[in-house]
Amino acid sequence: MGDKFIQMMARRLKENLHSDAVISRQGGDEFVVLLKNLPHIHAIEGITVQVNRVMAKPIKILNREYRLSVSIGTSIFPDHGHEADVLMMRADQAMYLAKETKSGIQQYQNGMSKSLSRKMLLEQYLHRAIENQELYLEYQPIIDVQTQQIIGLEALLRWKHPMLGHISPGEFIQIAEESELILNLSDWVLFTVCRQRQCWMEQGLPPFYISINVPARQIHQDHFIETIKRALNQYSLPADFLKIEITERTAMTNVEKTLSTMRELQEYGVDIILDDFGIGYSSISYLVQYPFNTIKIDKSFIQNLTHNANQKSVCRSLVAMGKNLGMNVVAEGVEEREQYHYLSSIGCDKMQGYYFSKPISNDLVEHFSRQSFVLQ
Ligand code: C2E
Ligand code: CA
Ligand code: CA
Repeated sequence: MGDKFIQMMARRLKENLHSDAVISRQGGDEFVVLLKNLPHIHAIEGITVQVNRVMAKPIKILNREYRLSVSIGTSIFPDHGHEADVLMMRADQAMYLAKETKSGIQQYQNGMSKSLSRKMLLEQYLHRAIENQELYLEYQPIIDVQTQQIIGLEALLRWKHPMLGHISPGEFIQIAEESELILNLSDWVLFTVCRQRQCWMEQGLPPFYISINVPARQIHQDHFIETIKRALNQYSLPADFLKIEITERTAMTNVEKTLSTMRELQEYGVDIILDDFGIGYSSISYLVQYPFNTIKIDKSFIQNLTHNANQKSVCRSLVAMGKNLGMNVVAEGVEEREQYHYLSSIGCDKMQGYYFSKPISNDLVEHFSRQSFVLQ
């Protein structure tokens, strides 16, 4: 259905612009239009108003009417820049302001980026983060405290912007999840992880897995399983080197689809981990029908563990429940020795947290994974 809309929009653009206009789709729901030889600078105003009007006309599909809102940003050569990149970026900024202020149409003006909210600015910069190589991954070890070995690593995405510095995933992932941007980031993470894992395999590092965080939009893509298989094949990786973390909320949206995707992945050998377990308030009877291989107890339960007797009972029940269901149980956010000891005493022997290691760079993984953790 999304494709139909895009095609319809492209057709409307083509029909309503001069034949020498260059129209291209920028991915997602964005189009770029290059207009040449305008008679004067104000001509652009009339054109954008006309485009806005025709794009906003209702669309009828399967007897239902849809109305789309459009945001248009413009920049002009040579007033706003001499290079294509700069002109595109400025039109982009104007478009974001049009979106944010709901004005519909906005022409670029010098100094405009100051008016953009941080959220809009981040969204705009995030579009270019992959090609500008501003993203990288850190890996946090998951330890089996009995063998004192790393059994897995969780890949965690990092973004360092040249001007804004480090931006926390808590902030930018949420922004990315609001649009299709999250799909580009997620694919980048998947392929980067597989490439890295292949490197480590060739270096003879131990057979730990890497888990990736998979958002709802990604797992619900029709070709998700194909993409996973393609990534594993491209880097000649055994399927059990990759695991997928999803939250309860993701598991609960589009239930049938999620379930069938999970089953198929599991059959293929890619395990699914239930992330942030315990904070989603889903009914337990509902959760047991999902083929989770592992549950990860949310860090909020671990954090209050040492000071709160009720919290201890809750934790003990969560561990027992996971084990009774035949799942592996990982405790995340383990920061203190007492937490580690208590968790060990109730039979939770897989843990992740600052007590063992913070998320670390590739190089440190190579160093760490060859040695045991000496735990006290
Ligand atoms: P998450 O999946 O629950 O990841 C665990 C978070 O807990 C990470 O935060 C990690 O650095 C942090 N953490 C680990 N051990 C401790 C500890 O002992 N104490 C405390 N206080 N925190 C600990 P981070 O890296 O800031 O990531 C935050 C969230 O951003 C992640 O939560 C996940 O939801 C999301 N995220 C990170 N990378 C990705 C990614 O590649 N894709 C997607 N879709 N989401 C990601
Ligand atoms: Ca996670
Ligand atoms: Ca988590």
